[in-house]
Amino acid sequence: MVNSLRKALNTLRKQKYHLIGSHSAVKKCYWVHKALTQKHFCYKGKFYGIESHRCIQFSPAVLWCWNSCLHCWRLRPSDVMSWEESLLPSIDDPGFIADAAIEEHRRTISGYFAYPNIDKTMLKEAMTPKHVAISLTGEATLYPRLGELIKEFHKRDLTTFLVTRGIRPDILANLDEEPSQLYVSIEAYDEESYRYFNKPIFPNLWKLTLKTLEILPSFTSPTVIRITLIKGFNNSEKSLKKFAKLISVAQPTFIEVKAYMFIGASMTRLSRESMPHHKEVKIFAELLANEIGYNVVSESKPSRVVLLSKLDKPVIRHGNCPVSWEDPDPGDEFSGEYGEPETAI
Ligand code: SF4
Repeated sequence: MVNSLRKALNTLRKQKYHLIGSHSAVKKCYWVHKALTQKHFCYKGKFYGIESHRCIQFSPAVLWCWNSCLHCWRLRPSDVMSWEESLLPSIDDPGFIADAAIEEHRRTISGYFAYPNIDKTMLKEAMTPKHVAISLTGEATLYPRLGELIKEFHKRDLTTFLVTRGIRPDILANLDEEPSQLYVSIEAYDEESYRYFNKPIFPNLWKLTLKTLEILPSFTSPTVIRITLIKGFNNSEKSLKKFAKLISVAQPTFIEVKAYMFIGASMTRLSRESMPHHKEVKIFAELLANEIGYNVVSESKPSRVVLLSKLDKPVIRHGNCPVSWEDPDPGDEFSGEYGEPETAI
């Protein structure tokens, strides 16, 4: 194992990543803690029914990505490795990864048994996870057996949210099994803004991202376009119109407009002023909804995110989270991960 990779993996261990095999990891999510200790669920609980305390935050490519986005707050591969190392060193078995991910999730929450006044029923539920968020770090589609892995998780009665930057339409188009929900994360609205902000390591990645948006309507599972809003970069009227064109191609079930979070390594590349307040996210989302014929159907102030859809009821529920679209939030825009950045994540 090359030195840079060994050093990077040690850095992740210090950041409480639970490494699995040669390229995967689990890390306890901030909202698992909030759900178990305060019964506050993440925005995906409110929007899609995810029971946060039963959710595994996971990646099958923990240190591998073909972008170096300015807003990335985690350890970017390009910060620790050369592009020659941009492919996984070896390919672990999907069944082994699925079992280990469940075990590592249990390990991350075992400490709560010592917590005074912890809700024993929720803790018991948390030991039987129901959801996998394939979103932790890196680019999951760089793991070539992703479809088999999704199948293994489903066989173990877990739903799967797959979050991708869309750089591997070939992998997405040939998945053995679709995820329960498919996310494509975008910040850029054309090739120029993509090269500047997402810093692709290969020249054709914007074209591949557009290809992914073209095939999105062919998925039977719900699809989501998530726009991370960065003030001064993609919150202009020009970018809104260009996002509208991209969305008309992808025709997603849902659109999430979410504020950039001034946190971690991104603080060396962007400023606190780049982080929108919730009301600024809401204004942009409302304008975008008008532009594309979608409706604002829900929001979460603690996570500074607004949900757009053509659906008028929360009919797509992947779990039994007791909170739904119209329920009030347990706090304001400073009460969630934006309010207590470092400690939270
Ligand atoms: S869905 Fe995402 S935010 Fe919610 S608990 Fe899972 S990893 Fe955390």
